[in-house]
Amino acid sequence: MKKKILVLFLLSTMILGGCSTQKITDSSSQKEEAQEAKNQDISEESTDGEVDESQEASKDVFAMDTYMTVTAYGSHGEEAVEKAVTEIERLDGLLSTGEESSEIAQVNANGGGTLGKDASYLVERALEFGKSTGGAFDIAIYPIMKEWGFTTGDFKVPSKETLDGLLEKTKLSDVVFDKETSTISFKTDGMAIDLGGIAKGYTSTRIMDIYRECGVKSGLVNLGGNVQALGTKTDGSKWRVAIQGVEDDDSYLGVLSISDKAVITSGGYERYFEQDGVTYHHIIDPTTGYPADSGLMSVSIISKDGFLSDALSTACFVMGLENGMKYAREQNVEAIFVTTDQKVYVTKGIRKNFRIQVDAYELEK
Ligand code: ADP
Ligand code: MG
Repeated sequence: MKKKILVLFLLSTMILGGCSTQKITDSSSQKEEAQEAKNQDISEESTDGEVDESQEASKDVFAMDTYMTVTAYGSHGEEAVEKAVTEIERLDGLLSTGEESSEIAQVNANGGGTLGKDASYLVERALEFGKSTGGAFDIAIYPIMKEWGFTTGDFKVPSKETLDGLLEKTKLSDVVFDKETSTISFKTDGMAIDLGGIAKGYTSTRIMDIYRECGVKSGLVNLGGNVQALGTKTDGSKWRVAIQGVEDDDSYLGVLSISDKAVITSGGYERYFEQDGVTYHHIIDPTTGYPADSGLMSVSIISKDGFLSDALSTACFVMGLENGMKYAREQNVEAIFVTTDQKVYVTKGIRKNFRIQVDAYELEK
């Protein structure tokens, strides 16, 4: 199971290089090429003293339960990549529910506490999204995630009675957060929060800040299929992001050209288990406690803010096509919705930048 998840993560959203529309799957040869290019660039720099802005620095890291790659270009790239990795590790240590010492795990164990700057920002905004999505985005979902075994990998299908009981512990209105003091508490015993639906998007936005602070103008981060880009590629052309929309991992739905944007996808295929021929995935409908059965296969949200894209991709997946699309428009983001009956709905603003690859899919006008 775990292996499958990892492969799917790697394939779910990929960056395509050059003019090729071929999917890059061979990371070792990719790395060798990158290394070659890098070495070449460095030697060019040392002979003529000029900085080559196409010089690449890149690092892979496993954090937040997924594979991540951070890449930055130019003379400050290496420093920026180091700082980005440190930031990923710092945020993982703060926000992980599975890490006993993390701030979030401590709050969950103690039934509340005082949050630091990052968690406080995340909780405040997450609660706002909770309200504006009518409860579809629910960071208090943790007791239900745990019951299904998504937190440990020890999967099981809970009984309806168990889920109904747990729904009493996942009410957003029972999360009390004081902005002034950054303290959080719960009105009901056993409540706990889970920032899994926003942590990666927040992290990718933080990395863009770090890149800018370091003087990097072109860079990219791929956090388990969620991509955020700073600027354009070094040749001025747009980044090309492959969007997976099918379970078959040999094909992808289409290619989206972007600059300065986060492209974040939530899909029922990303983390799931099967029992008695039924697939159960990890995005929960807070009104039922069951995996959201909204007729969607995936939702990708494109915006300048990774946090916003991440929150909305999860929320819109729960809300379904009609309500989700309406909400995405209200939030002024671009979106790609893929339905389980293989139709693709794309907001107007990105249609000219999105090339659909899979014939079986129908692009709705
Ligand atoms: P991924 O983390 O796989 O990229 P998402 O961003 O959609 O995908 O996040 C899914 C995670 O969000 C789940 O693993 C869980 O931690 C959390 N989650 C599940 N259901 C909800 C929900 N209704 N509202 C908020 N967070 C949720
Ligand atoms: Mg999300």
